[in-house]
Amino acid sequence: MLEYLRTVRERPVWRPVPADVRKRLSSAPTPRKPTPAADVYEEFKRDVLPYPTGNIHPRFWGWVIGTGTPFAMLADMLASGMNPQVAEFDDSPAVVENQVIGWLVELLGLPAETHGLLVSGGSMANFVGLAVARNARAGFDIREGGLHAGPKLTVYASTETHSSVRKAVELLGLGHDALRSIPVGADYAIDLKALRATLAADKAKGQRPICIVGNAGTVNTGATDDLRALAALSREENTWFHVDGAFGALAALVPELRPLVRGLEQSDSVAFDLHKWLYMPYEVGCTLVRDQKAHRATFNVTPAYLASFDRGIAAGGFPFAERGVQLSRGFRALKVWMSFKTHGLDAFSELIHQNVRQAHYLAGLVTKHPRLELLAPAPLNVVCFRFVAPGADDVALNALNKEILLRIQESGVAIPSQTMLDGRFAIRVAITNHRSRRADFDLLVRTVVETGTALRKG
Ligand SMILES: *Cc1c(COP(=O)(O)O)cnc(C)c1O
Repeated sequence: MLEYLRTVRERPVWRPVPADVRKRLSSAPTPRKPTPAADVYEEFKRDVLPYPTGNIHPRFWGWVIGTGTPFAMLADMLASGMNPQVAEFDDSPAVVENQVIGWLVELLGLPAETHGLLVSGGSMANFVGLAVARNARAGFDIREGGLHAGPKLTVYASTETHSSVRKAVELLGLGHDALRSIPVGADYAIDLKALRATLAADKAKGQRPICIVGNAGTVNTGATDDLRALAALSREENTWFHVDGAFGALAALVPELRPLVRGLEQSDSVAFDLHKWLYMPYEVGCTLVRDQKAHRATFNVTPAYLASFDRGIAAGGFPFAERGVQLSRGFRALKVWMSFKTHGLDAFSELIHQNVRQAHYLAGLVTKHPRLELLAPAPLNVVCFRFVAPGADDVALNALNKEILLRIQESGVAIPSQTMLDGRFAIRVAITNHRSRRADFDLLVRTVVETGTALRKG
C-alpha cells in the first residue's frame, strides 16, 4: 500500500470496473470452503485494488471527498488489531477519543464545556446534533409521547443546505415540510430578512421553531452563512443553533480564514468531518454539543445489562452510547490522535490554507480565460465554472459542459463533479486534497478548454 500511495500520481484518477472484473466480483459463489490467503490476496490485487473511487489521486476534486494519509492508514491497522468497543469502558481507547474531542473543541474555538463524539461522517453528525436540538427545544417530552404530543416543530436552513440535513429532519419524524428552505443572496449565504419573515409567519400559524441550521461551507459553492447573526437570532427566538460545518468548520484552524466562520463558537452544536478536510481515511466525522445534559438526555437508556458500578471494567458507564445512536463503536479516534501528534496541527492548518489558495488560483485562471466563466464566488475551497462559447445559450452550454465533464472524468485526467447554479450547469471543483499541486489546476483548465473547443468544432 505504501508503494501504491507513492505511485498514485502515475495512474489515471479513475477508470470504470471492466465487465469481466465486475462479473467475477459480483457473481462468485458464497465461499463456504477456505481459499489460500495468498490466492485471495492476488485476487484483491487483480480485481479490487486497480479500480478505486480515485479520491487519493492528486487530481480528484469531485463532491467533497478526502484523500487519507499513509500514516493514518497504519494507525487504522493498529486500531483494528486492538479492536476495542469504544462505548466507554474503563479502557484507553475511550480516554483517547475524549482527548481527541477535547482537542477538536479547542481547535474550533468552542466553549470548554463542549463535549461530543466521533461518528461515521457528516450525515450522522448532523443527525445527532439535530436530534438533540429537537428534544431540547420541542417544549414537550418527545421521548415519552412522540411528536403527536405537541405543535408542529419547524427547522430553518438555506436552500444551499446539504441533503443530509433534510434526511435527518425526515428521520426525526418532523417531516420534509418542517424544514423551511430559506433563499440565499448573491453570495449563496442565507437571506436573514427572509429567515425572519418565515419565522414570524410560522409562529403566527401556531408552529414552533426549534432550530436554525447555519452552513459553514456549503457543498455547492463553499459559502458560509452569517453565523454570528444566526446565533443572535437563535437566542432571540430561543431556538437551537446547529452548524453544518462538514468541511468549512475546519477553516477555523487557519488564523487567516477564521473570520469566515466567526460565530461558530456560539453554536449549540456543530457537525463536521475529519475524512474530508482533515485528510483522515474514511470513516470519521464528529458532533460537538455544548449542553452535555441535553445531549445525554436525548440518547441515554440504561437497561440492567448496561448498568455501571463504581468499580470494574464498566465503571463510568457507557457515555459514548449516551451521546449518539451507536452502542458498539470502533476506534476511529486512534488515527486522529496519532496523526495530530505525528504531523502536528500546524501541518493540517497549512494544508487547509494551501487548498484555499489553490481554489483562489483556479478561480483566477478561470476569470482570466476568455472561454471560461466563474459561476459563483469562491470564498473557500470550492470553484464552480463553465466553458463558454460565443452565441451559445444556457441550454446549449448546459449540454456542452455536461459533456466536457463526463469526457474529462472518463479520460482519467481529473475528477471534478457538477452542480446547477441558477439553472446553469457548473463544473465543480472541491479541493480537500493534500496531494494537489498548482500544475494540476493548470492541467485541468487546459483540458476543459481543449475539450470544449474540440466539441464546438466537432
Ligand atoms: C459531505 C457533507 C455532508 C455529509 O457528510 P458525510 O460525511 O458525507 O456523511 C454534510 N454537509 C456538507 C456541507 C457536506 O459537504
